[in-house]
Amino acid sequence: MTGFRTYIAAASIAEAAEALRIGARVLAGGTDLMLQAGNGGGTDAGTLLNISRIGELRGVGRDDGQIRIGALTTMTDVLADPLIAETAPVLARAADSFASSQIRNAATVGGNICNASPAGDMIVPLLLLDAEVELAAWRDGAVASRRLPLDQVFLGPGQTCIEAEELLTAVVFPAPAAGFWARYRKSGPRPALEISIVALGIAGIRDGDALRGVRIAMGAVAPTPLRARKAEALLEGRALDEAAIAEAAAAIAEEASPIDDVRGSAWYRRHLLGVYAERLLRDAEDD
Ligand SMILES: Cc1cc2nc3c(=O)[nH]c(=O)nc-3n(C[C@H](O)[C@H](O)[C@H](O)COP(=O)(O)OP(=O)(O)OC[C@H]3O[C@@H](n4cnc5c(N)ncnc54)[C@H](O)[C@@H]3O)c2cc1C
Repeated sequence: MTGFRTYIAAASIAEAAEALRIGARVLAGGTDLMLQAGNGGGTDAGTLLNISRIGELRGVGRDDGQIRIGALTTMTDVLADPLIAETAPVLARAADSFASSQIRNAATVGGNICNASPAGDMIVPLLLLDAEVELAAWRDGAVASRRLPLDQVFLGPGQTCIEAEELLTAVVFPAPAAGFWARYRKSGPRPALEISIVALGIAGIRDGDALRGVRIAMGAVAPTPLRARKAEALLEGRALDEAAIAEAAAAIAEEASPIDDVRGSAWYRRHLLGVYAERLLRDAEDD
């Protein structure tokens, strides 16, 4: 990789945090960074910090009612993990529509968040799960950790409020309650090989023909992935009849601020959002 003068392969979170304190660029699976560096971008630090050997950063666990996914957990790991299948299959669904198997073997959950693409496939389902990120940094001679709600992380395309000396160590969410229902859908004739033109997720606790604790998240339709809070409020506890579904679909499309680009016009993105919203909500009605 060009542009870096020094290379460090950290063996622990403490080693990585020390390197970041001095100034380094993190390398996880490299599926974004390699391309950015090849294009002459992303090499703003003199040191490349490879974190892929830090074993404690990889894997999925449950602790005190919380599910914890280590930053280095790959899409392939997410697809195969029994705890994910049991508690949050919507994440496996998103990993299944993520790139090719070669990319899934390398691409990490932490890298997907830190790259901050508006179309990042793991972000929408993690927003549905009310996830927080866990960040570690070297402070006063030791590693200190803080948590930040995922929906506060993103500032714009490729921009987060994660500080330069912070390492994303994990993403954490409360184990979903009984009756939790969540669906995710991304656009494209071959979704696994396309960056989303539109991604939409809807979740809530099934309560008869309604959803409670409604969460709606969308990707690729605004500068950052985001929750559709007005549509959530509109659907809260309401029977999922035709009128509610149509109103919610319109509200979701209204909350988006898509752009025209080579992959789709703003009009098409907004239209697709409404169509996906109706389909997902009809699934909730039928499931
Ligand atoms: C062919 C191809 C297809 C793709 N398809 C998809 C797709 O379908 N859906 C999708 O969402 N993405 C896709 N991507 C993008 C990419 O694979 C993902 O964003 C991936 O999750 C990035 O993870 P990584 O481990 O490779 O990150 P890296 O490339 O190693 O890092 C990405 C960025 O995050 C920073 N970073 C990584 N880990 C940490 C950490 N723990 N703490 C702090 N900073 C960190 C790095 O410094 C860098 O800036 C695709 C990429 C390619 C090349």
